Parts: sequence; C-alpha cells; structure tokens
Amino acid sequence: MSDIQFFGHIIDNEEVESIDGKRFDVWNPWTREVWAQAAEGSEKDAERAIESARRAFDEGPWPRMGRVERAAAIHRLADLMEERADELARLDSTNMAKPFAQAKHDVARSVWNFRFFADHQRDHVGEVYPMDSGHHTYSEFGPAGVVAAISPWNFPLMMASWKIAPAIAWGNTCIIKPSEDTPASVTMLGRLAAEAGFPPGVLNVLNGYGAPAGATLTGDDRVDRVTFTGSSTTGKHVMASAATHLAPVSLELGGKGANIVFEDADVDNAVYWAVEAIFRNAGQICLAGSRLFVHSSLYDSFMARFVEAAEALTIGDPFDPATKFSSLASKRHFDKVVSYVEGAKALGGTIHTGGVADDGSWVVRPTIIDGLALDAAPYCEEIFGPVCVVNSFDTEEEAVHLANDTRYGLNAMLFTENLSRAHRVASRLRAGTVWVNCFFIRDLRTPFGGVGDSGVGREGGNFSREFFTEPKAVVMQI
Ligand code: NAD
Repeated sequence: MSDIQFFGHIIDNEEVESIDGKRFDVWNPWTREVWAQAAEGSEKDAERAIESARRAFDEGPWPRMGRVERAAAIHRLADLMEERADELARLDSTNMAKPFAQAKHDVARSVWNFRFFADHQRDHVGEVYPMDSGHHTYSEFGPAGVVAAISPWNFPLMMASWKIAPAIAWGNTCIIKPSEDTPASVTMLGRLAAEAGFPPGVLNVLNGYGAPAGATLTGDDRVDRVTFTGSSTTGKHVMASAATHLAPVSLELGGKGANIVFEDADVDNAVYWAVEAIFRNAGQICLAGSRLFVHSSLYDSFMARFVEAAEALTIGDPFDPATKFSSLASKRHFDKVVSYVEGAKALGGTIHTGGVADDGSWVVRPTIIDGLALDAAPYCEEIFGPVCVVNSFDTEEEAVHLANDTRYGLNAMLFTENLSRAHRVASRLRAGTVWVNCFFIRDLRTPFGGVGDSGVGREGGNFSREFFTEPKAVVMQI
C-alpha cells in the first residue's frame, strides 16, 4: 500500500484529512486496482469548507481586488497548469482510463478556460446608458458570494474548470466537489491554486460522495450560487436543495444527442465525426451523438463504413500512444452500460459490432445497434457509453421530428453540404448547441447549456457573468 497516493481536501490552502479521518478508495479502471485514497468529506468537512469560502469572501482581498490583478492571479494558475500538464493529464488517465493524448487535450482546454474568464471579467465590466431624461445609468457586475460547484467524472479537470474559472474570475470564492470517482486532478488544481498565491479560501476542494458532502453544500444558506454538472436525476435533487435557500442554480445535465446525416453530406467527414461523437472518451460524453439518423438512400453504405471505422479504433492501455479507446471509468458504470447492451439484444435490436470485451476488463467495445423501437430504453435513455443507436429517415421533416423526439435537448449535429438546409434545420432543432459538419468545437463566448432534461441556464461569456454576479443598476442625475 506504500505507493498509494492520497488526495485530501484543500481548505484555506492547506491539504487536510477529513475531521473524522475517513478516506475512500480510488480505482484505476484499466488495471482494476486501487491506486489512491481520498478524504471522505462529511457534513462537518463541508461546513468547514463553506466557512473558509465565506470568510474569504466577506473579509479577504479576492472580491475587492482590482480586475487586472485578479486576472493576473488566474493567469499564474494557468501557467502552473501548463507547466504541470503531463502530471494533470496522467492523473485523469489513471483515474478514468482516458487515453493520455485526450487527457492532454482536456488539460489544454482547462488552461484556456481559466485564461478566457480571467480576461473576460477584466474586459466586460458593464454598460453605460446616457438617458434622454438627463440621467446617466450604468450596470455593475459585483460578485455573488460563495459558489458551490459540483462536477462529474467524465472530464474530471475540464468540467471543474468550466465552473471554477468564471466563478473565481468574477470575484467569488468557490468550493468544488469533484466526483468521488475522480478526485485526483481537481485536488491537484487546488494545490496549484495555493502555489499560484491565491488567498486562502478562494478555491477550496471538498472530496467525498454526493451525500453528505455535495448535498451539504447545496443546502447551506451561506452558499449564494450552485453550479452543477451531472445526471438529470441528481440535478433535480440539487435544484430542490438549493431552492430551500433560494440560491440560483446552473444545471448542465444529461443528453441523448441526435446526429443527422443527410443524403448530400460529405460522407468521409460524416463518418469521421460520427465515430468521434460517440466513441471519443468511450462515449462518456454528455454531448455524445448517441442517436444517429442516416438518410435511407445511403443507410447501408454509411453503416458499413461506420462499423469499419469503429472496429479500427485501437483499444487498450490509456498510456499506450496507439490507444484511442479504453475501458469505462468504473465497474458501476461498466455494469450499467452492459445492461443497456444486453437489453438492446433482448428488445430485438441488431448489434452490428461491439459488445462486452469478455476478457474481465471493464471495456465495452464500440457498439452500433439498429432495429430498436422508438420507445426502447437504449434508444430513449442516456447510456453514457460507447453505444450508438441508428435509424434511417426519408425526409428533412422526419429527421427533425426524430431528432426532437426526446426529453433531452443538449446538442445535435447535422451533416449536409446544402447551406440553406443547414441553417433551416439548425434553427428547428431543440438543442442548446447544434454542430454543422463538425462536433465538440466550443467558443467560450457563446451560450452553453441544455433544453428540457438537459439542464437549466447557460454558461459561457456574458451568460456566466449573469450567473456568477449580482448585476446592479446605478442611476445618476447629471
Ligand atoms: P452524477 O449526477 O451521479 O454525479 C455528479 C456529481 O454530483 C458528483 O460529484 C456526485 O458526487 C454529486 N452528487 C451526487 N448526488 C448528489 C446530491 N444529492 N447532492 C449534491 N451532489 C451530488 O453524475 P455522474 O455519473 O458523475 O456524471 C455523468 C452525468 O453527467 C451524465 O448524465 C452526463 O450527461 C452528465 N454530464 C453533463 C454535462 C453537461 O455539460 N451537460 C457534462 C458532463 C457530464
């Protein structure tokens, strides 16, 4: 057990054990071994983190600091993340079997999240309106207070950075609770924030389970904002808990993304992105293109190419540079995905490729299924794994109807070389993000979020400013 690593809570810039000394095991899903332990936060640990963040907000320099100075501090953290990018990526790869090259990409995007919001708060200070009445009015965006941020395991560092970066950039103090499955990289981020010279309490990391650790944060009236990324079911609990003290919530929840390939698509490009959209990160992406709709005129040829491309993905150790696809992130999640694949067989679906690896590993191979009824669970529910359900369509109208026939509405993709159709269909799709002839590209100035069961609110650029501040109008008689 001697080389087992430990990830404590980071409170007031100190790495600490839980008050009662409790720890939990952290697994490496590729080797199926425990490689670390983390502090298991209790209600008391959560309260300690809230007290620290509250003190830092009410009495500390961070909310009162000049915007240029705050931006510089956040850039210092981003610099350290860049210097230690391999280490951060190694933690995510070990913790959830993410191929190392993909983990490096996630670190780079996380660094960019910090840099973007550091500059955004510096440059988007407020609006001024000279009024015809002779008054002069302006809006001011002051920090909201203490932010509780709760993140999932599929992009451990990146999801956390999307929450922490705008929260602290706008002058709030923050407590991040990473998923119990992936505490490592976020704990390291907390260590780096201390090293970057952040005042104590600005960024606290609370490790532990959803309850009691996460639930204590969301239900505490000393918390002013709750930002949550995770499943739709947990999102409802989080919203109910925050409502007890009227804390505004931002919820980024599950998805069942539609991917529509029209008859005039560039097929090479569509096949490439269909594979990326459902098999990258072993399909553990809220934005996955998990429902694929292909025009009937190219259905058979497209399926043949899609299956061939899926089977060409190299499956293996996340640290082998050849690996494109590895195991699922935990045994619990593996069991869930397997139950959907087996359910699909029982429901009469045709499995064109994929299924369980059958070697004792927690790998579900890239899986492509068609022939399922439109009310079958694997077709309707979020599997959150490398499982694509495919259907054909004949008309644009039918494609839009199929794509929108879901409780989720996070994202959709469409592939067409017809410009008018691209705009027309993008506008009709009920989704927070629509990608045309591409996938996974994000500009942090635009809104990000979901419709229906996929979430509440939008993040990004000024949308994050609205959420993480208390906007105020000041009216002056000149
Ligand atoms: P989850 O809901 O099980 O857990 C998410 C986080 O919530 C974890 O940190 C967990 O400990 C915490 N939690 C659990 N119960 C809680 C409670 N009662 N109160 C407070 N916190 C609680 O989700 P998961 O399995 O970690 O992540 C997968 C889900 O996340 C998928 O549904 C996926 O689509 C979604 N997701 C959404 C986005 C997005 O941007 N919309 C991004 C990534 C993942």
